[in-house]
Amino acid sequence: MALLIGLTGGIGSGKTTVARMLQELGGYVIDADLLCRELVQPEEAAWREIVEHFGDGILNPDRTLNRAQLGKIVFHDSGEKRVLESILHPRVFEEEERRFAGIVRNDPGALVFIDAALLIESGNYRKVDKVVVVACDRHTQIENSLKKGFLSREEIESRIDNQMKQEDKLAYADYIIWNNGDLSELEQNVRSIFEELKALNK
Ligand code: ATP
Repeated sequence: MALLIGLTGGIGSGKTTVARMLQELGGYVIDADLLCRELVQPEEAAWREIVEHFGDGILNPDRTLNRAQLGKIVFHDSGEKRVLESILHPRVFEEEERRFAGIVRNDPGALVFIDAALLIESGNYRKVDKVVVVACDRHTQIENSLKKGFLSREEIESRIDNQMKQEDKLAYADYIIWNNGDLSELEQNVRSIFEELKALNK
């Protein structure tokens, strides 16, 4: 029987790296962020609902969503944040399930991982078979995020402080992949969790 597994972790924890390693081991990965971006393309159902609620002001001249503008609104207003989430999160999961079903049709024993930064916050963790959290200490999180080169140290620290705390995320984990060491250590940790999941799947 196939398994649908949620993969999450804080900013810079190493989720994307872990997802790539899982894929190399034979797992399937669904990228929730990518999928979300597809769902809000102009004229899609989620796009329409968002524009209906937030108005044309959150659109770019080419009618795509102005994510920065929308981000600003929901960052300062938790009610508006809930509205946006109630439009996106159920649809994202619906699409994830649809893709999962498609994969399983071809590979009935598939291990399918959803790479989702907001797996727990969205409540979608309840709908997966297992939850894997990638975790590391704060210093490593900051150094990893700096490597990406998009954000300053201050911005990274502020994001970490505004995210759900790692220790709270860990309470939801069926498996924890620690990422405080080098990449070969990470690979070993990933491999051992992958083997455990495979054994469940027999
Ligand atoms: P984000 O939350 O920003 O999407 P992420 O959790 O997906 O980040 P990655 O993109 O996997 O994190 O990792 C961030 C950076 O840190 C990448 O450049 C990656 O190569 C590097 N990295 C992750 N883990 C390690 C490690 N164990 N050793 C060295 N570099 C690492």
